[in-house]
Amino acid sequence: EAARLVLEGNAGPLEILRGVTLSVARGESLGLVGPSGSGKSSLLMLMGGLERATSGRVEALGQDLTAMDEDQLARFRRGNMGIVFQSFHLIPTMTALENVAIPLELAGKRDAFGRAAAELEAMGLGARMDHYPAQLSGGEQQRVALARAAAPRPAIFLADEPTGNLDGATGEAIMELLFGLRDRHGATLILVTHAPELAARCDRVVRLLDGRIAGEELARKVAE
Ligand code: ATP
Ligand code: MG
Repeated sequence: EAARLVLEGNAGPLEILRGVTLSVARGESLGLVGPSGSGKSSLLMLMGGLERATSGRVEALGQDLTAMDEDQLARFRRGNMGIVFQSFHLIPTMTALENVAIPLELAGKRDAFGRAAAELEAMGLGARMDHYPAQLSGGEQQRVALARAAAPRPAIFLADEPTGNLDGATGEAIMELLFGLRDRHGATLILVTHAPELAARCDRVVRLLDGRIAGEELARKVAE
């Protein structure tokens, strides 16, 4: 069924998403666009199980996220989803290496530190592993976040304006790395972005307007 999300606002309940029906194929890349406040982040959070639908169903990899409790959701996310945010969301008291390795340890992976180091190397951060987030540039912090997202080899990447806080060239490099990860893992990618030229790199683009899906097109068309 269609998913609906109602959150408590200052002026009472606010219907954030209504009647959204969307399905994404394995390995597909999907761009989510739309004006500020249209519900892009909310929809991404629903898909990642970070926000719960008020009604309707959210499924991923054949599993019903709406039926899971918080622990099950957290475990499912750790094992299957790599999530990247505009504001990096690194833990400030942990080094780059720890930011990548600790979640892997929590997910019960063997050789968490070795794997984390390899992911950071792959992101070009071999020389920055012992730095804390505050000692890294925005682009470097986002590369740590990408390494963290990629380390568990997730089947799904969710990215919410991952280049929104970065300058053009740095953002471009992050996009290359993100699409590279997706290709390397054959993963599904859902990318929220304001920028039509970034959305156009995806296979398909869905436009949100006021909490509803307003349109869908092949990405190639969006760029024209
Ligand atoms: P932007 O492009 O600015 O990031 P968006 O498309 O990602 O916008 P959302 O963040 O999903 O939009 O927000 C959609 C609507 O939901 C907005 O009207 C916002 O004010 C509201 N909203 C988001 N989070 C909450 C919350 N926790 N409680 C109440 N309302 C919220
Ligand atoms: Mg948003």
